[in-house]
Amino acid sequence: MIPMVYLDHSATTPLDPEVLEAMMPYLTEEFGNASSVYGLGQRARQAIDQARDEVADFYGVAAKEVIFTSGGTEGDNFAFQGIARRNGDRGRHVITSTIEHDAVLRSAEALERDGFEVTRLRVDRFGLVDPDALRQALRSDTILVSIMHANNEIGTIEPIRELAAVTREHSDAYFHTDAVQSTGKIATTVDELGVDLLTMSAHKLHGPKGVGCLVVRSGVRLTPQMLGGGHERNRRAGRTSEAAASSPRQLSL
Ligand code: PLP
Repeated sequence: MIPMVYLDHSATTPLDPEVLEAMMPYLTEEFGNASSVYGLGQRARQAIDQARDEVADFYGVAAKEVIFTSGGTEGDNFAFQGIARRNGDRGRHVITSTIEHDAVLRSAEALERDGFEVTRLRVDRFGLVDPDALRQALRSDTILVSIMHANNEIGTIEPIRELAAVTREHSDAYFHTDAVQSTGKIATTVDELGVDLLTMSAHKLHGPKGVGCLVVRSGVRLTPQMLGGGHERNRRAGRTSEAAASSPRQLSL
């Protein structure tokens, strides 16, 4: 058999054996429901708290600013829908770029169907969004700017710090970045980027599929999309955080 050479780590990565080892107890004997008051549940709760602390440390944010999700697609949808629903009374204009992942592009189209206006910034020949073009596109009714950190097809790294600063200086809009492709590759904190919301996905950096997070800075007004129990401080119902609890080690790569 010809040995396989896998060169598509931007699509997905194999699970790191160390991550699998960290996960195994929670996939087998430590199967408790983190809301249960007895020992089994409380151990699951501790694992979630530890995972949240590690993710928060990695991004330089507070643990309460990390919302576990099912991955990048959910994080992007959550950011768009969550901001639009909660802040639609302030304005109905959103800015993004033409080279975003479909999770962002389709979310923007969904907002258009709901009566929002979307400006899509074109990129230059290097694949970069021009901060000046963003400044000109910003309006008093802009509530969200979403520009990805690293592009999944051409690898361009957008000047997020500059773009976020322009947004802050010229509007009250929130700034979201899809950091699915940059997390683990470009060392940076959320403060350094200057963003209000950040999406990540575990399977792009040797973690499991079906786990990710949306970092939401304190004070950002956001409506939950998954409704149900009071998980994730009432911001994202469902037991996804239990899956995340078992896989924090990928972030130390
Ligand atoms: N955003 C970017 C930039 C991506 O590359 C991907 C995955 O290909 C996603 C979002 C979606 O992430 P997930 O597969 O975790 O839903």
